[in-house]
Amino acid sequence: MEKIALFPGSFDPFTKGHEDILLRGLQLFDKIIIAIGYNTSKHQRYFDVDTMVRYIEEAYEGRPEISVLIYNELTAGFAKKHNAKYLLRGLRNTTDFEYENSIAQLNRNQNPELETVFLITSPKYAHISSSIIREVHQYGGDVSDFLPYKIRE
Ligand code: ADP
Repeated sequence: MEKIALFPGSFDPFTKGHEDILLRGLQLFDKIIIAIGYNTSKHQRYFDVDTMVRYIEEAYEGRPEISVLIYNELTAGFAKKHNAKYLLRGLRNTTDFEYENSIAQLNRNQNPELETVFLITSPKYAHISSSIIREVHQYGGDVSDFLPYKIRE
């Protein structure tokens, strides 16, 4: 049976740190669905969600094992709908761990068949965060080193 994992997050923006988790995840799973959690009424995004989908699709064109979807519901339910038995998440530090620990318990409570699999970020990418990239970009800085695609305004 095909092993499908959901890689959920805000991805505002999707970074080379996320890519590191994605590509290493593909050594464990047959397919990975990048799932961008987006709630129109609640979330204020910096990068437009549809544009982000396009960037990610372009970055992994010709790789059918990688797909990207937008969702606005419980992650556990969304995973079930797409036959994903695993959630993939990255861990950079102990702050990530504290947060991820409670989210993973909650997701398993909502869908007992769902296992969260954590990969420790490669040191090379551990310093990259979406929030820092937003800040640099906002002030006109060049963020291209941190992203696996080119931003076009
Ligand atoms: P969320 O808003 O749900 O935390 P993010 O888009 O910030 O979503 O991150 C999605 C996942 O990617 C999380 O598991 C997060 O820990 C991981 N991640 C974020 N930045 C990095 C990075 N630089 N390297 C590896 N993993 C990362």
